[in-house]
Amino acid sequence: MCLIGILVGLGCDSKGQPDAATGDKLRVVTTIGMITDIAKNVGGTRVEVSGLVKPGVDPHLYNPTPKDVQRLGSAHIILYNGLHLESKMADILAKMSRDTPTVAVTDDVDRSLLLTPPEYEGLYDPHLWFDVKLWMQAVGKVRDALSEFDADNAILYQSNTERYLTELMELDEYVKSQVERVPYQQRVLVTAHDCFNYFGKAYGFEVRGLQGISTATEAGIADVQELAMFIAARRIPAIFVESSISSRSLEAVKAAVKSKGFDVEIGGVLFTDAMGNKGTPEGTYVGMIRHNIDTIVHALIGESEL
Ligand SMILES: [Zn+2]
Repeated sequence: MCLIGILVGLGCDSKGQPDAATGDKLRVVTTIGMITDIAKNVGGTRVEVSGLVKPGVDPHLYNPTPKDVQRLGSAHIILYNGLHLESKMADILAKMSRDTPTVAVTDDVDRSLLLTPPEYEGLYDPHLWFDVKLWMQAVGKVRDALSEFDADNAILYQSNTERYLTELMELDEYVKSQVERVPYQQRVLVTAHDCFNYFGKAYGFEVRGLQGISTATEAGIADVQELAMFIAARRIPAIFVESSISSRSLEAVKAAVKSKGFDVEIGGVLFTDAMGNKGTPEGTYVGMIRHNIDTIVHALIGESEL
């Protein structure tokens, strides 16, 4: 706590308003990659965006490092998902919000569109980004946060937002067109944790995850057996590993399915709570969603190449 206090103090002292005339950029600090992507697209050349949770890292379990705390302390704006996704960062985000605009990008999303699966005990499911149209609502929140802080560039943020939203509309259409290729009864998605509920609802898939909504709950032997029975009974051809979660548990499911006399393939790796590496197609939100739907569709309909 002490360390956090000192670092926050240092960060705040060194932070001033950015001066557009001298090319000073707005320092935006984000948690997950999908929000980093929004901030970069909406902020364009006016912002310098730094994401805390790196590719391959699970945000449910992420603890901020002292360096992260320093970055947060020197940010002009902090953007996070909210809905308890960054559960281990709640304290530091609350602390930061006293001096720095600290915005949950899901705050303005229509609550009637959010899911409350029973296993999440009355809380909202935080994985909104798998329904592209729903995630588009978070883009508006980022535009508003940047425009409020830096009103001189509001027009730029608005036009960047319009361009990005057009891209996301096209992405949503692409996902729908890919889903159409999968016969209705084969639209079942089995993954390591329950993060595809929004995807399932938006695009008509039945979804099953081995672990609960948060990876903080461990899957037990009974969960593995139950899922294996479901896969064997429904003759599901492929299940999917997630880039930010160990594949061990799904390998156990595959083995359990085999012991029931059915073979299920690992259909590929999906980028779920973290995007791919910077500089790769999956290192952007659009690329990540395209990769996921291509991987899912190809494995379920049995195409060998992407
Ligand atoms: Zn998750």
